[in-house]
Amino acid sequence: MRLICPICKKPLQTKDKEALCINNHHFDYARSGYLNLMISQKKNHGDNTDMSKARISFLNTGAYAFLREELSALTKQYGSSCIADLGCGNGYYTSALVAEEKYGFDLSKDALKYAAKHDPSTNYIVSSIFNVPLTDHCADTILTCFAPTASSEIDRLLVDNGYFIYVSPGPLHLMEFKEALYDKAYQNIVKRQDVPLHFADQIEIENRFHADQETLKNLFMMTPYAFHTGIDDVKKLDQIQHLDVTAQFVIQIYQKNKE
Ligand SMILES: [Zn+2]
Repeated sequence: MRLICPICKKPLQTKDKEALCINNHHFDYARSGYLNLMISQKKNHGDNTDMSKARISFLNTGAYAFLREELSALTKQYGSSCIADLGCGNGYYTSALVAEEKYGFDLSKDALKYAAKHDPSTNYIVSSIFNVPLTDHCADTILTCFAPTASSEIDRLLVDNGYFIYVSPGPLHLMEFKEALYDKAYQNIVKRQDVPLHFADQIEIENRFHADQETLKNLFMMTPYAFHTGIDDVKKLDQIQHLDVTAQFVIQIYQKNKE
């Protein structure tokens, strides 16, 4: 166990259904198995229930399984002993990562409830990814998939020579779907991440999937489009019975050099 107390930063020990530190700060495990290490409890962090449900339904169609397999193979190749997934969501990718010890961090309790129930191989923790309750230099691989890059925490957590894997949508990701919804569909811009690490490699992967209307609606719900689309554009979804869509991802790999 490499978790630390979010209050005093001392190591946490697990006992029965709680985690506690030497200063007797204790934190309960939820019935589903995740551990809440947020000190201040604000409502509605991360995905809400509807978004979470839509994401689970969409991912269960297998449309992004090729990314999951790629990440699984990469971590297997690295021979990771400890992986931290920062912004792990419902654990779809986390559960497939290969390591002796795995930690997934996210703010969404809804997502972690699902993750903890379906993946006993990972410690799922409610926490900000910008203040991760793990000891310094404990992870040899860190993954961030479609979430912001917590640069200074990644540097603090990684061991020397450790890897940071960053996944973002490729330029043509979901292009057919965007074209169906909008007058102008823009390509995604893929940027290098501002991290104090050595840029090691970039892998681009692509697959096409066939989506029915329900799948398209779930896809819409789980993406940022739901917040930025006018009501007329949303109605266009009712006209589309099915669509072949490109899924394209860019996997950037950074490595921490020896001092
Ligand atoms: Zn403490």
